[in-house]
Amino acid sequence: MIIVSSCLAGIKCRYDGHHNLVPEIRELVLSGKAIPLCPEELGGLPTPRIPCEIVKVENQLKVMTKEQTDYSKHFLMGAQKVADIARTLDCKLAILKANSPSCEYGTVYDGRFTEKKIKGNGLTAEQLLKQGVEIKNESNFKL
Ligand code: SF4
Repeated sequence: MIIVSSCLAGIKCRYDGHHNLVPEIRELVLSGKAIPLCPEELGGLPTPRIPCEIVKVENQLKVMTKEQTDYSKHFLMGAQKVADIARTLDCKLAILKANSPSCEYGTVYDGRFTEKKIKGNGLTAEQLLKQGVEIKNESNFKL
C-alpha cells in the first residue's frame, strides 16, 4: 500500500480549502493501491486553517504561524498518526506534496514566511523516513 497526501488525490484539505489534484495519484487511490491521508487534519486542525512554517526556536523545531502561534502539537500528532497507519499497512512508499510543513521532503520554507527555502523535511515526511518509508513527491513519483 502507498500513502499519498490527500490533497494530491483531489481532497480539499489544503490550508486554503483547495486541493492539488494529480489525476494519476487519484487513480492510484481509486485502484486500491494507495490510501490518501492528510496529517494536518489527522492532527486535529480545521480546513481552512492558518498557514504555518517550521521554525527553529532555542534549538527546537516548532511549527508556527507568521504571528508566532505554536501549532507544533497538532503537526506532531498528525505525523504520528500517519506513521502508525504506515506501519499497520506495511507501507514502503509515500507520495507527499512538496512545500508543506507536514509533507515536504528535501527542502522546507525557512520559517520567515518569505518564500525562501532551506534543506529539511516536513514533520510527517521525517517520521516516515525514520521508519524506512521511501518518499516521493508529485513531480518525481512516476511509478
Ligand atoms: Fe496536503 Fe499534506 Fe498539506 Fe494535508 S498536510 S493539505 S496532505 S500537503
